[in-house]
This record gives sequence, C-alpha cells and structure tokens, in this order.
Amino acid sequence: MKTRYLAHMTSPEVEALNKKDGVVVLPIGAIEQHGPHLPLITDTMIATQGLNATLAALSEDVKVWALPPMSYGKSNEHINFAGTVTLSAATLTAVLHDIADSVARAGFRRLAFLNCHGGNMPVLNMVARDIRVATGLMTFCIHGLHYGNPSFGLSAEEMRYGLHAGETETSLILAMAPELVKMDLAVKSFPAFPETDTDLFFFGTASAAWLADDWSETGVYGDATKGTAEKGEILLETAVESLSKLFTVISTFETAHGEKNDSN
Ligand SMILES: [Zn+2]
Repeated sequence: MKTRYLAHMTSPEVEALNKKDGVVVLPIGAIEQHGPHLPLITDTMIATQGLNATLAALSEDVKVWALPPMSYGKSNEHINFAGTVTLSAATLTAVLHDIADSVARAGFRRLAFLNCHGGNMPVLNMVARDIRVATGLMTFCIHGLHYGNPSFGLSAEEMRYGLHAGETETSLILAMAPELVKMDLAVKSFPAFPETDTDLFFFGTASAAWLADDWSETGVYGDATKGTAEKGEILLETAVESLSKLFTVISTFETAHGEKNDSN
C-alpha cells in the first residue's frame, strides 16, 4: 500500500482511491497547559503519534487514511494558564463541518475523529451526528487511545482523579518526546473534589462545570511523578492493539441500510 497520509498524496491519487471501504481519520488534540513539566502540545502529540503508530501496525488491506491533525481544540477550562490556545465551541464546530464537507466531496464514505482532549468530547459527539445528517458520511468519535487500565496498574486515585497531565500523559510524552518533559518539575496533585453520597463529579451523570485552576494550583490532576517512558511504551502498545481492531471494524462498517442510500 502507498502512503496512508492523505496530505502526502496528489489530488489525482486521492481521486483514484477506491473509497467504498475505508475511513478517513482526523486526529484532534489541544494546545493547552499540562502543568509545569509537560508541553502545551501534549494532547495533539498523543493523538498524532498514537495514530501514526497504529497506521504503521495495521495490515495493508485495512483502508485507513489520515488527515493532518486538528491541533487546536476547545480548551477554555485551561484559559487561566498562559500558553493555552482555545477555539470556541462555535469555531470548532464550524471547522469540523468544513473539513467533513471536504472529505465527503472527495467521495469518502466514513470519517472518524481520534480525539485526545477531554474538553473536545461534547462538541465532537454533537458535531458527529450533525455531519452525518448534513453529508451522509458515517461519522465516528474515538475518545482517547483506549488503553484502559494498563498492565502496570494505575492506582484507584489515579483512575478516578488522574484527569490531566498525570501518570499516563506524562508517561506517553516521556516515550514520545522525552526532550520536552521536565521531570524535575513534575508534581503529584489530586483535586480535593468534595465526595458526597451523590454522583456529582467532574463528568458523568451529574457534573459541575470546572476550570482547571478551581482544583489545582499547578494545573496537574494526577501523580505526574510516577510517569516513566517504559509505562508510556506499554500504553502505546496497548493503544495500537485496541485502535487497530477498532479501525479495522470501522473501515468497513455499514448501517442496516448498507449502501442503499449511498451514491458510491
Ligand atoms: Zn492532555
């Protein structure tokens, strides 16, 4: 198979692709504070490199094509920290619609978002359905790299409160770009979110809209000091395995109506 990167192809090459099967993947991240030790580009790097590693491992007959990353996301929960660059929900929505229109115009049938920033989730879930209605594209939301609770085991505290710049993100960037990590500045910081006998939490069925500085001086939610490159490699390997399966399924996914409503 030739390249899986759409932007590396020529226009006639894209035109000539057999698009009956196959999915176009848009990696989406954020440029936002990740504590005193991780770079602003953390989420975009995790989405891009997670996708790159998965594409390299996919079997050749699985048709997955990658778009260049959407580097900016909706990050206004981090707006009180310098360096955060955020799009409004309206801007992000409009950009995603324009990208989806272009993907549909080229004749593709499926579009997947590989999103590695929590703040983008509600926007993407909403936009995906609107894109489906507006373009007919089968549209998929994949949130995070799908490594679950990894084999090295995360503490219960990290599983519940390790939302941001904690053990997993620190480990992933140590594996992907160690020169950008300042481990001497890494901190352990779990938010003192009031535990009540209700479901009220940062997200879920009952949530409080939160800003990162409501619960953390440093912007870290988790124990960044426990991050290691070895753990990052394990997370990445696990992600490649689960994302490969997911992309394989999505690349030939059909609704109950199959291609009946499709012009291709
Ligand atoms: Zn992040």
